[in-house]
Amino acid sequence: MAKIIIDVDITLLDLSDSWLEWLNSFAKYFYEDEYIEDCTNDYVNYNLGDYFILPQGIDPIDFWRHPERYDGEVIYPEAKEVLNKLIDDGHEIIFVSDCCGEHYISKQKMLQREVPRASNFISTSIKSDILADIIVDDRLKYINQFKDYPKDFLAIWYGTRYNQCQDFDASMNCYKASCWKDIYSLIDYYCQTKN
Ligand SMILES: [Mg+2]
Repeated sequence: MAKIIIDVDITLLDLSDSWLEWLNSFAKYFYEDEYIEDCTNDYVNYNLGDYFILPQGIDPIDFWRHPERYDGEVIYPEAKEVLNKLIDDGHEIIFVSDCCGEHYISKQKMLQREVPRASNFISTSIKSDILADIIVDDRLKYINQFKDYPKDFLAIWYGTRYNQCQDFDASMNCYKASCWKDIYSLIDYYCQTKN
């Protein structure tokens, strides 16, 4: 049985279309060509606000501060299936997310609704403070926090179209996955070979 840290945003659900719509409703200008080019090259900036000229006083991150931000949202069906399978296999799931304070409750309720059998949810930007065997995250900046963990710690980088501000640390036991089916295979293989 492994203790698995699972990230939330982008890894389990992607609200970028809603964020784009929200930004567009205020925008003076949208650098749409740059955005499309970055999408094509898998080089999208995590802060979508960088693709807009916004009126003074509008902070792009305000979108995430909305207290009901995750109400009615659902996770990827494939992720839900794999998480339930991991729980069936006896693993412990801990959702860990760097939250904007105001949306914490809404995010927690969404996770409880979507995966009722995994109730652990921690909000922190220092994910490596949590003792675990495996992390699944779309951001290398969080994965690299675990570089001093024992060598058998497994890091799974959920690779997406977003540009990483840090490099992949080759000294780590780290694999890139592009879908939840691959994430399950990596975890399953890791647990079988570890025991
Ligand atoms: Mg994430």
